[in-house]
Amino acid sequence: MAERCAHECVVRMNDDEGLAGALAVVVGRPADEAAWRLDVRGTVQGVGFRPFVYRVATELGLNGSVRNAGGHVLIEAAGDRAALTELARRLAADAPPLARVREVVVAELAAVPRHGPFRIERSNETGTVANEVPPDIAVCADCLAELTDPTDRRYRYPFINCTNCGPRATIIDELPYDRSRTAMRGFPMCAECRREYEDPWNRRFHAEPIACPACGPALSWSGARLGSDAHGDRALAVAVAALRHGGLIALKGLGGYQLVCDATNHDVVQRLREAKHRAVKPLAVMVADLHAARALAVLNGAERMLLSSSCAPIVLAQSRAGSPLAAAINPGTRRLGVFLPNTPLHHLLMTDVGRPLVVTSGNLADEPMAIDDDAAGLALSDIVDGFLTHDRPIRNRYDDSVIHVVEGEPRMIRRARGYAPAPRALPVASGVPLLAVGAELKHTFTLAADGRAVVSPHIGDLENAEAYGAFTTSVRRLSALVGITPQVVVHDYHPSYLSTQYARGWDVGKRMEVQHHHAHVAASAAEFGVDRPFIGVAYDGLGMGDDGTLWGGEVLIADLQRYRRIGRFSLAPLPGGAVAVKRPVRMALAYLLGGETFDLPAERRNGSGELWGAAREVLARVDEREFAVVGKLIAARLNCPPASSAGRLFDAVASLLGLRDETTFEGEAAIALEEVASADDCGELPWTLRNVQGLWVYDVRPTLSAVVDSVRGEVPASVTAARFQATVVAVTAAFCDAARTSTGINEVCLGGGVFQNRKVADDVRSTLSADGFDVYLGREIPVNDGGISFGQAAIAAARTARR
Ligand SMILES: [Zn+2]
Ligand SMILES: [Zn+2]
Ligand SMILES: [Zn+2]
Repeated sequence: MAERCAHECVVRMNDDEGLAGALAVVVGRPADEAAWRLDVRGTVQGVGFRPFVYRVATELGLNGSVRNAGGHVLIEAAGDRAALTELARRLAADAPPLARVREVVVAELAAVPRHGPFRIERSNETGTVANEVPPDIAVCADCLAELTDPTDRRYRYPFINCTNCGPRATIIDELPYDRSRTAMRGFPMCAECRREYEDPWNRRFHAEPIACPACGPALSWSGARLGSDAHGDRALAVAVAALRHGGLIALKGLGGYQLVCDATNHDVVQRLREAKHRAVKPLAVMVADLHAARALAVLNGAERMLLSSSCAPIVLAQSRAGSPLAAAINPGTRRLGVFLPNTPLHHLLMTDVGRPLVVTSGNLADEPMAIDDDAAGLALSDIVDGFLTHDRPIRNRYDDSVIHVVEGEPRMIRRARGYAPAPRALPVASGVPLLAVGAELKHTFTLAADGRAVVSPHIGDLENAEAYGAFTTSVRRLSALVGITPQVVVHDYHPSYLSTQYARGWDVGKRMEVQHHHAHVAASAAEFGVDRPFIGVAYDGLGMGDDGTLWGGEVLIADLQRYRRIGRFSLAPLPGGAVAVKRPVRMALAYLLGGETFDLPAERRNGSGELWGAAREVLARVDEREFAVVGKLIAARLNCPPASSAGRLFDAVASLLGLRDETTFEGEAAIALEEVASADDCGELPWTLRNVQGLWVYDVRPTLSAVVDSVRGEVPASVTAARFQATVVAVTAAFCDAARTSTGINEVCLGGGVFQNRKVADDVRSTLSADGFDVYLGREIPVNDGGISFGQAAIAAARTARR
């Protein structure tokens, strides 16, 4: 057998000079013939990599073999040195579109293996390198062409796929990625599919989910209310008829069941909202193609590119006036989540129905999306007219990803199908395998080992037993899949998060706490490889501080291990605790009545009385009882936890401007404020930064006082909203200047859900950049709480790193 010799070199593929130099070491040796082992690492399984190697090696006249081993690809090749060099070069230069080659380790073999013509070998299950699970890939153009070609044997076959597209993460049971370890195990290939699968020159060569109408999964319809049971194309036809006649159906999608209805039909959209207990949160709309998307939304180049990418996410764009969509799709907002079909089944459905469809996750209220047929039946049969389903099991739950474009750059809001669980690099390699369990809302967890972090797909709000069950199952499955057995669990300070309670089940010595806002800013730092001290600006709703109070408008001097709080927003009480989070009007009252009494020395506690009088006038629409209740709670300091939250300040201003007094989902009031704000430069409102016991505090009283005055003076809400956003930008710049003056640090890492406000994110970045700061804001990792687990992992990795 071949042996490894000492001439080993690592070729990192993002470094062309390194490649040439490293190869020269090996190639510089005299003999014409040689044998090499090439160990290819990165996202190289499930993306057509082995067939690609086969074709290149065969073209170059090399002997040898290629196989999957663990999460990487191993090549042993023998032949002319120049041909071997060319093979190594082309591994990175010509890799299939979905492959990401991170590095190639080249070793010269002492003996030339006795291989015949180049071949693909079966997988070696004893790989030692950590595994990478390939994300799902939207159906490719070649498959689409066959899907719509009446002469093709897969014409209208809803499960068509190839080496370059199709299900991956959602069907994998175990790695290495082979058909026998996926949900396709129950579908033996027919002779024709096998011929394609085994033909190295066929584009389905070793396409693991390969299928056709003769051997693969099949559709079925079961009519809970509409139509009798049907199969195959007939099932699709019944579903299409149901949708065209205003029906609501459950569809077994790629990563979970979805609820689908006609997006132009007000009645059925309203029915869907009532069934899901989802009052106003915008619903995502799927359209057949880019042309149809442009009829509903104003799309820039980056947005169009994202829509038609192989990840096919939901893109949040601006809805077009006069579109045919039902008003109930996105009431009170111009934001519209739009996306294109990502599976052949969705393509067929869109084409046959011929109008935009609501395609939203198949769950009720806050439960996780159903993936199991029986569970979907139980959860959804009372609300839908029928089920369009099939017999390929869903192994892992993946919701649709959501992205928006800020300053021409895509920024992730919900990272799931198409993106997760592709690994991310950590700036500092972890000394132990670890599990970071995230926070609560928009929950994700992260597994990390060495320099690699695998962020789970979005799980949802971790607030009930169902979501908790989905979380623990997902931890078990993903941990087994990626081969990371955590020895340390990392969690938030907040004692009542279910994620924290899960972590408490671990031995004390194996737990590590990370402060919420430190995790937010560390997530941005880690995404961009910042491992030096930085200024961290975290603006979000609420997170537990290290002093037992709730934080949310924070300025830190931090690195990946520690932080020091140097600034914050004013405190305000949250009258009634959680109630105040859902009632912006309460926050308006709380800031005006009690804001600075929590914050300032006694002699400074004036002004609130005047503000209170003004509030009565401005908020005359509010019930007297609410004034009385809030007044009593604050006076008695009863159930009034103080918080320095930026998100709550946005809520208060939105309420004062008459935009939202009550909300049904996180960020609703802040979004309303962003939407109403004029795009023109309207100037700032007054603000003060004062030093309170060594902390820089943004005193919000002058700002709120000006908001109240502008409402009384009938200044348009669009102008005041724009001025308020400009004020937050100016305050942020002042915070950062103060931080730089005292520390000399020039890097700023931003984090927290408030930075989903595009105007604030844009202007903070451009203002700080103009001031000479280097500014980092999460791009592939969400800036909302979906990014917390990645930040926790980056911090824990740095704290445990071997030195
Ligand atoms: Zn394809
Ligand atoms: Zn077949
Ligand atoms: Zn947060």
